[in-house]
Amino acid sequence: MKPRLAARPSLLLVLLACLSACGAHNPYYDPARRHHTPEGFRNNYPMQAPSRSDTLRWQWERWRDGLPPAPQDLPTPVEPDLAALAHPGPRPAVTWIGHATVLLQVAGRNVLTDPQFSERASPFSFAGPKRAQPPGVPLASLPHIDLVLISHNHYDHLDQASLAALARQAGGAPELVVPLGIETWMAEEVPEWPRDRIHRFDWWDGRAFGELRTTLVPVQHWSARGLFDRNETLWGGWVLEAPDFRFFFSGDLGYSRDVADIAARFPQGFDFAAIAIGAYEPRWFMHSQHVDPTEAVRVFRELKVRRALGIHWGTFALTDEPLDQPPRDLAQARAAQGVAESDFFVLRHGETRVLP
Ligand code: ZN
Ligand code: ZN
Repeated sequence: MKPRLAARPSLLLVLLACLSACGAHNPYYDPARRHHTPEGFRNNYPMQAPSRSDTLRWQWERWRDGLPPAPQDLPTPVEPDLAALAHPGPRPAVTWIGHATVLLQVAGRNVLTDPQFSERASPFSFAGPKRAQPPGVPLASLPHIDLVLISHNHYDHLDQASLAALARQAGGAPELVVPLGIETWMAEEVPEWPRDRIHRFDWWDGRAFGELRTTLVPVQHWSARGLFDRNETLWGGWVLEAPDFRFFFSGDLGYSRDVADIAARFPQGFDFAAIAIGAYEPRWFMHSQHVDPTEAVRVFRELKVRRALGIHWGTFALTDEPLDQPPRDLAQARAAQGVAESDFFVLRHGETRVLP
């Protein structure tokens, strides 16, 4: 490799510039906060982060074994009931659009999580994880969105094209809540989003939007858009409180003591949660960053969630389990932990459930 790099001094310079840019400093650095570092952020409880050689081993085994296997019975999407979405009833309603993109309609407000409507979850239009199912609700058919929650900057959660389209929705851009640092990415990548509608949060910080209140909570994960910006921006889950209704959005998370910390802050539990159940194989590589369905049900129980939707599956093949495996493993986990199917369910793309 060396001679080739030497023969391309411009590439080398770009790489060096990137590396030095990444020695980047964290503008929010507060030494009193243990998850802050001068360069970025870290988990509350040390995470066994996969090394580069672990990543290479996983990618090699994935290629060698032809993983993931093709799904056998991926659920067919349902036609969304656009009239009902435009005129929601008095009860909170949830619609699964796909992956971690969920439309929650509560207190007369439309809240969207991690909007990802693009063909690929990737920095490239021609490569990277390709969508296996179209968005359950097309972006152009969404009701007016009031509030968007972003969990972290991985491509399957933070999508430039989707956000640019939401910024242009009729009636103006939604309010947007992001973990620290993503506001800088927004200013560069989605400059049309009004700055005064972008709100950055550190862990445990909260803010009211009318009758709604959002709080960013710590979960074990990490961030990166490229090779040299690991953990420069923060990640997290969200708590959304509405009158008589409390919602937890997990984002991506590995199982950690952060779950107990969230339970301690919100001892009354949650009326509803959207919890990731997919992207968990192989466990030796994924366990620190993505829960499996057994752990997802554990999160559900420890947070005292009354009803949950399993998300982060069936849309982009990111890991080694087939795209339709998570609901089967979720059913086993529910049975093993004594949870009813109606209490921790999955939806088809485009399907809506009105919550009790
Ligand atoms: Zn992620
Ligand atoms: Zn993800």
